[in-house]
Amino acid sequence: MKKQFKSESKRLLDLMINSIYTNKDIFLRELISNASDAIDKLYYRSLTDKKVKVDREKLEIRIDIDSSNKTLTITDNGCGMDEKELENNLGTIAKSGSLAFKENLDKKKDIDIIGQFGVGFYSAFMVSDKIEVTSKSIDSSDAYVWSSTGADGYSIEKTKYDKVGTKIVLYIKEDTDTECFDHYLDEDYIKGLVKKYSDYIRYPIKMELTKHELVDKEKNEYKDKKEIEVINTMIPLWKKNSKDVEDDEYDNFYMDKFNDYEKPLKVITSSVEGTTTYKSLMFIPGHAPYDYYTKDYEKGLSLYASGVLIMDKCADLLPDYFSFVKGIVDSEDLSLNISREILQKSNNLRVIAKSIESKIKKELEQMLKNDREKYESFFKTFGTQLKYGVYNNYGTDKDKLKDLIMFYSSSNKKNVTLKEYVEAMKKEQEAIYYVSGESINKLDKLPQVEQVKEKEYDILYLTDYVDEFALTALQEYEGHKFINVSKDELDLESDEEKEKTKKLNEENSDLLKDMKELLKEVSDIKFTSKLKSHPVCLSTKGDVSIEMQKVFEAMPNDIPIKAQTVLEINENHPIANKIKDLYKTDKETFEKYTKILYSSAKMIAGLNVDDPTEISNLICDVMSK
Ligand code: ADP
Repeated sequence: MKKQFKSESKRLLDLMINSIYTNKDIFLRELISNASDAIDKLYYRSLTDKKVKVDREKLEIRIDIDSSNKTLTITDNGCGMDEKELENNLGTIAKSGSLAFKENLDKKKDIDIIGQFGVGFYSAFMVSDKIEVTSKSIDSSDAYVWSSTGADGYSIEKTKYDKVGTKIVLYIKEDTDTECFDHYLDEDYIKGLVKKYSDYIRYPIKMELTKHELVDKEKNEYKDKKEIEVINTMIPLWKKNSKDVEDDEYDNFYMDKFNDYEKPLKVITSSVEGTTTYKSLMFIPGHAPYDYYTKDYEKGLSLYASGVLIMDKCADLLPDYFSFVKGIVDSEDLSLNISREILQKSNNLRVIAKSIESKIKKELEQMLKNDREKYESFFKTFGTQLKYGVYNNYGTDKDKLKDLIMFYSSSNKKNVTLKEYVEAMKKEQEAIYYVSGESINKLDKLPQVEQVKEKEYDILYLTDYVDEFALTALQEYEGHKFINVSKDELDLESDEEKEKTKKLNEENSDLLKDMKELLKEVSDIKFTSKLKSHPVCLSTKGDVSIEMQKVFEAMPNDIPIKAQTVLEINENHPIANKIKDLYKTDKETFEKYTKILYSSAKMIAGLNVDDPTEISNLICDVMSK
């Protein structure tokens, strides 16, 4: 009886069958990886279930080519599937990679993306007209055959198969004008694919290969002889010398193991011998996992003891600020049979974690030094996590991370490190200036920025919510304090200017007092010489900036920490004299001006105006006069 695929599977299947994606080769890797998983499952079962007996030496994957029937067969002696499992596993999309693929498909509608995902079993339809899966489960006395020609559904029938395991027969497609499938029946080609994608598989992948044997030297006569050969080295990728591994192999391994559709940005390998001995293979992803900045994300490296997986995600191996790193650690110094609790207390594990941390740090420093573009790309994706690491835990790790973080520089119009900032500082400049806000564009237009720029001091524009907290945790860099340009006292004026402004504020103390009466929110109001072309700005006193206040307000439990704001009016702007006049002649309009000025200062600072309607009406009143 023909059964129909579930609709989402059908869609994926359609794409596989009609795929125009060029890298069809990956199907073999997918089938071999499934076979290896199935053998793993059977082996683990044998460890816990006395009834299941397995001869470890006999576990294997076989590949057979039958060129006359145009079939390619992959056989394993793993756990097998019963009728229900065939139905459930091969009738629906199971693989997380396939699901991610499906989601992306809806979004991007990009067919080229296909081969980049771990699309699992269905990828075999890229090269086959028909697939037959014969399987016998370890838990069933009957064998079944699942068969499908793709789009029109599948059938499952009872069959005869005498050993536990799975045999997958692919009926390879005929060549077309534009595409060639014949090489999937070529021994050397298939052998090459296994070497390229599946060399590290832990079980032998055997194939019958044709050897030309010289039978008569004088007549130069050869005879074809069939010989079974193990094609893969079975050495896990991380145990190989990195010089002997192609970039491609690392990339494919990463994409396969960590279900990513994109190559890693960086591959980090290390082999350490000393107090503890371990090998590691780590990757920095090219993009943040979709749940990276949520609490659902689980950090950790896969931990192996002498080649056997003992923990899938060992969180203790990675500090939070490097939580984006994925990979594998394999050590001979760890015992196979220790519990998670004991493992977590293990001194060896702590030593490995420390060594891994410094390795990652060193690699990032190298990247920053030698491949700026790559580092920029990395920082764009994971920089927030590093900055978070600077201020987290009361700044405990700030010194480790301070040279890895970057901020946008107003002078260079690109990201700079703190070291670069300090090196480029003017002779007389003492502090490191920064300002934080929503966007580079908005920050560049802030009134407060003008004075600092006029001195030709560089300003760091902070646009990430953690930035200011990170700088607050750092406090200083190489003896240079961080100063927020939006602070009320920047102390950049000359003594004369200061004296003049002080006098002006004293002379107008009544006016300022009355203004303050109207604007209860602000801590202070004053005339200033720091503004150049702009009439007003809102600065702050104390340690809490307006941007920090915004972050606190956005937190779920609304932490009531407020910035102390100061309304500053440009003493050299015509508006200064105007309000002085109005104060003497027209108190009512003076009040309106005060409110309008304050609201514009708030607007510039990106704060909400409490009663926009009132302000709009006031502006129109004044305009109509
Ligand atoms: P994934 O391998 O990611 O789960 P697949 O679509 O490749 O996705 O396979 C679906 C499921 O079918 C597997 O999870 C596994 O349970 C089962 N399966 C596939 N191939 C085999 C096999 N050779 N032996 C046993 N089970 C298999």
